[in-house]
Amino acid sequence: MEEFQLQPTPHVTRRQLLMRGLRCQCPNCGQTKLFKTRLRIHRYCSNCGMRIERGDGYYLGPLCINYAVAVFTFVLPTLLLGFFGYIATKLTLTIAATGALLLPVLLYRFSWGCWLMIYYMCLPDELHANRTADCDDLSFEEERRTRTK
Ligand SMILES: [Zn+2]
Repeated sequence: MEEFQLQPTPHVTRRQLLMRGLRCQCPNCGQTKLFKTRLRIHRYCSNCGMRIERGDGYYLGPLCINYAVAVFTFVLPTLLLGFFGYIATKLTLTIAATGALLLPVLLYRFSWGCWLMIYYMCLPDELHANRTADCDDLSFEEERRTRTK
């Protein structure tokens, strides 16, 4: 059972969100890294207490970013080079398959940082630091309830 007390943090601008996303830092306070190991994300920020990993389905955002970056920046261009004869077919398939397997692992952290950045840029009021003191936010209360489970 994890028990955290949310700490008050100053308002977060879009520029700060961008920098924190690219550095894979907590979008709310910017003081901690998102990952506790190479591939394991913190469930809550150890500094401000904001929930980072929000449960089922939340991983789909990073997955889509990871897939899109891997396919459109590496696999598809490699296959096109092979299709138009710049690279031999066997070598093309080997390079594309290797990239398709390795890039998602290498981009995993970056895709999480980008996902949180995009999410909170689109919904800045969802960020704890950007909520008003008199905010009657049900999702905020939901987070408190799920922490005691
Ligand atoms: Zn934080």
